[in-house]
Amino acid sequence: MNAEILAVGTELLMGQIANTNAQYISKRMNDIGINIYFHSVVGDNPARLKDSLDIALKRSDAVIMTGGLGPTQDDLTKETVAQIMGRKLVLHEESLEKIKGFFQRINRPMAQNNVKQAYLPEDSIIIPNNNGTAPGCIIENGGKVIIMLPGPPSEMRPMLEDTVIPYFESKSPYKLVSKYIRIFGIGESSMEEKIIDLIEKQTNPTIAPYAKEGEVTLRVTARYEKDKENDDLITPVIEEIKSRLGDTVYSLENKNLEEVVGELLINKNVSISFAESCTGGLVSSKLTNIAGISQVFNRSVVSYSNQAKMENLGVKKETLEKFGAVSKETAVEMAAGIRNAADTDIGVSITGIAGPGGGTDEKPVGLVYIALADKSGVRHKELRLWGNRERIRNVTCLHVFDMIRRWVLGNGEELN
Ligand code: ATP
Ligand code: MG
Repeated sequence: MNAEILAVGTELLMGQIANTNAQYISKRMNDIGINIYFHSVVGDNPARLKDSLDIALKRSDAVIMTGGLGPTQDDLTKETVAQIMGRKLVLHEESLEKIKGFFQRINRPMAQNNVKQAYLPEDSIIIPNNNGTAPGCIIENGGKVIIMLPGPPSEMRPMLEDTVIPYFESKSPYKLVSKYIRIFGIGESSMEEKIIDLIEKQTNPTIAPYAKEGEVTLRVTARYEKDKENDDLITPVIEEIKSRLGDTVYSLENKNLEEVVGELLINKNVSISFAESCTGGLVSSKLTNIAGISQVFNRSVVSYSNQAKMENLGVKKETLEKFGAVSKETAVEMAAGIRNAADTDIGVSITGIAGPGGGTDEKPVGLVYIALADKSGVRHKELRLWGNRERIRNVTCLHVFDMIRRWVLGNGEELN
């Protein structure tokens, strides 16, 4: 089955908001094996909405619409669709009760025009909305399907998950199961080279690589017949990929690198501190996304200036003068210094040139040193990154987390 997404809203056309709904829905449809062939956006205008819908219905089996289900005059998605399909809008009592209940819960009077939201096309499947007022609906008509969802992502997403996805799954004779392999430390093309034969001969399961900023994810998706005993098709493929890519694989549970590292630190009880220069606290900020990290995360010093590097970390003046703030020597002293100051199992440092200015031939933008100090000494790594300031800082974080991950996996036992 193929589908397309039609987002409704003048705000989208004016650039006031980004069409994140289309991205989210596409990703989820892809997960369940529905091909999305088109994205379009149309303003809150009945004639143009009608034209867009006509086009969409000619070329796609299903049209998933978001936006324009609100109570106000400019919200006209439902009215327009009902008209095109020749369906009356009828009061759906249950939805009206839900809307009333919603206003009671938030302790506000219900405006009369909210009643409009409980009118839905006759003979449609209602999509309940537990996080707002506008219910959505699914209309089946002459082999085509139209789905209407509200615009706010906090309402749209749970409705998609709870009703729309199960609806599509119930229509299919197959069930798709996906597993994700997260990889860091190998480029997309080198990775592909190592598994190209697997990718080429794939039919079931299929293997799809996605490159994200600085890292790669492989999705392995198997198609099973419903209501039948099926062999596990995914595990052998994952095992094979893992054996080829080795320790560049950091998660088989679709966790991101900071989550994996946070959990490793907590589980192995490794205390940690950071001295961050060019990342300005970004590494610490990402790590503190992990619940429970306070058990092991002691502190972070954002030592942006040379003065801070000397005063807070004990970096020697001569080191800074001789080698500069962005040097392996400074990174090593920063890591040892923060470990000392914080009295943690490991101390990690970052110093580099994130750009756009500040680079020289010898020390170009994207040159970053990271270092990790433990009780036996300090190891360091020189990174040569490309991209803008944001990318350089984000990819640096990945390298830092990977360095910690490798250290914990290699040396965790020595500590106790
Ligand atoms: P409401 O009841 O809030 O009016 P609605 O279904 O009528 O909901 P819109 O009026 O089109 O939806 O949009 C409401 C808000 O939802 C927008 O201001 C925006 O914040 C968000 N939104 C709408 N469409 C999208 C989209 N395609 N992607 C991301 N956010 C969106
Ligand atoms: Mg609206």
